[in-house]
Amino acid sequence: MNTLVWFRQDLRTLDNQALTLACEEAKARGGKVYALFIASPGQWQQHDMGQRQQRFLLANLNALGEALARLGIELSLLKVDFFNQTAAALKAFCKANGISTIFAGAQIEIDERRRDQALLDKGFVLQLTDEHCMLPPGSVVTQGQRGEGGAMYRVFTPFARRWRDIAASRPLWPTPAPEAVAEPVAFSPFAFWGNHAVADPALDSWPAGEEAALEKLSRFRELAMARYGEQRDFPAIDGTSSLSPYLALGVISPRQCLAALLQDFPDVFVNESSPGRTWLNELVWREFYRHLLVAFPELCMAKNFNTLGDGIRWRNDETEFEAWKNGRTGYPLVDAAMRQLNQTGWMHNRLRMVVASFLTKHLLIDWRWGERYFREQLIDGCLAANNGGWQWAAGTGCDAQPYFRIFNPMSQSEKFDPDARFIRKYLPEIAQWPTKSLHQASGPGLFDTSGYPAPIVEHASARKRALEVMAVMKKG
Ligand SMILES: Cc1cc2nc3c(=O)[nH]c(=O)nc-3n(C[C@H](O)[C@H](O)[C@H](O)COP(=O)(O)OP(=O)(O)OC[C@H]3O[C@@H](n4cnc5c(N)ncnc54)[C@H](O)[C@@H]3O)c2cc1C
Repeated sequence: MNTLVWFRQDLRTLDNQALTLACEEAKARGGKVYALFIASPGQWQQHDMGQRQQRFLLANLNALGEALARLGIELSLLKVDFFNQTAAALKAFCKANGISTIFAGAQIEIDERRRDQALLDKGFVLQLTDEHCMLPPGSVVTQGQRGEGGAMYRVFTPFARRWRDIAASRPLWPTPAPEAVAEPVAFSPFAFWGNHAVADPALDSWPAGEEAALEKLSRFRELAMARYGEQRDFPAIDGTSSLSPYLALGVISPRQCLAALLQDFPDVFVNESSPGRTWLNELVWREFYRHLLVAFPELCMAKNFNTLGDGIRWRNDETEFEAWKNGRTGYPLVDAAMRQLNQTGWMHNRLRMVVASFLTKHLLIDWRWGERYFREQLIDGCLAANNGGWQWAAGTGCDAQPYFRIFNPMSQSEKFDPDARFIRKYLPEIAQWPTKSLHQASGPGLFDTSGYPAPIVEHASARKRALEVMAVMKKG
């Protein structure tokens, strides 16, 4: 009998245990290996996955198809609208190709987990491997007393400490790509399942495929990894890895990232002052939010992690939301950041925090509105990190930024874009303004013809209003 690798969010040949196991099984049984991806655009739309990320997915799928073809494996694409049509499509595919066993990387989101459980209940032989985290969800928990099982951490710092202890005690090296299972086969690229009419120039900056992702990793390693801690907060500097779009679709694995880090900084688990430590922390933040999503599935259902947040009376002003989306709040740093998102499909982490704080605190717009808009625009959209980031900014999440801490967009601007280089890049219409005016959000002067708006809210009064509304978050 033949085996199948069902690719989902693990679009790579390197460090892909599902692929390796499928090849080993086929070799042992003398069968053939098939590969499959199932597009489900209706479901993805319900999950707010943007056309942009879907296009990037397609480009990576085509690169994967080429790589698999060299290994003698043919990649097929099926399309269903919703997950509940998966079983029928999969059954027909397996029957037509004599497939008995399916290998796939586990997914963590609730609908995906329900889909997989339904398939198992229907009798599919589906073997799930852990591809998306370095340590699988459920394996980093509090140490239970008297032999009892532990619980998922609700805050980051002790999670990270435990994560490092476990990681240091076991090998986490990536697995190599499997050897070719047959002579190379031909591969013809798939066409897009979505809206063909809309071209998206944002994709030009994101070359597809695992070679491109590895190239990005080695460039980061060469130029910025050692100085990440000092540079990562400055959006005008290329100081971060830009790997998030590839990690989100599994074009590169977190184990591959960790392996690169450990080669340069072998003591990073134990040495707090290792130059690699801050980047390790970010990779662990990624794991933290993923483990949380599994431990608290209500996070997939747009619920506040801290239920005190249910009492917040959001203003939800549609006009102000439009201004925020379009980069027309009159706060240059916020607007430049939103234009970076709209134009490139990516936003620097410091700015994600600034714009999320501005939306939820200055404008008192529900974090779910921002979360959805990000998801629609981001090329690295990821439910766990996006939800975690938004709830952190709104103060409703775990390890919450306390509700009374409100980012001041003007001092953030002075601190993290001191010469306004980033602002000028994305707001060319006001690039000639003096740097001080760009930081101060002082609005257009009397004779200004830029068309740039005056600030839509005044910082001090917006801050005061947010503190009053957010007071429901006070404990006890
Ligand atoms: C409101 C908000 C929304 C966000 N939405 C997303 C999202 O949809 N998808 C996404 O991948 N990240 C999201 N992040 C986290 C972070 O902003 C991005 O991962 C980071 O900017 C990606 O840039 P990079 O690849 O250069 O990261 P680097 O700084 O090089 O970090 C390496 C990797 O670690 C992970 N990582 C880094 N920071 C975080 C973090 N704070 N939380 C979780 N993982 C992290 C990412 O996978 C990233 O690629 C969000 C953050 C906030 C505040």
